Amino acid sequence: MVSRFADWSLSLDPYGGPAIHAAECTTCDEASPGADSRDVPEVWCLRHAARTGHTGFRSTVTTFLRATHLGPLT
Ligand SMILES: [Zn+2]
Repeated sequence: MVSRFADWSLSLDPYGGPAIHAAECTTCDEASPGADSRDVPEVWCLRHAARTGHTGFRSTVTTFLRATHLGPLT
């Protein structure tokens, strides 16, 4: 992903670390731990569904962005 606005460019931050995958139950307030892979929140959802009967979840992936100034600094 690369976005530009005026003299600035926005892209994925190569030093921001891996994406963080997580899930939240949409019925109660419980949430999975964050993890480098989506397997962890998906297993958490299935275990939560089996334990509580709750079947709706919100999945999130957090990534890190870096803005870079393209023009000369003034
Ligand atoms: Zn729940």
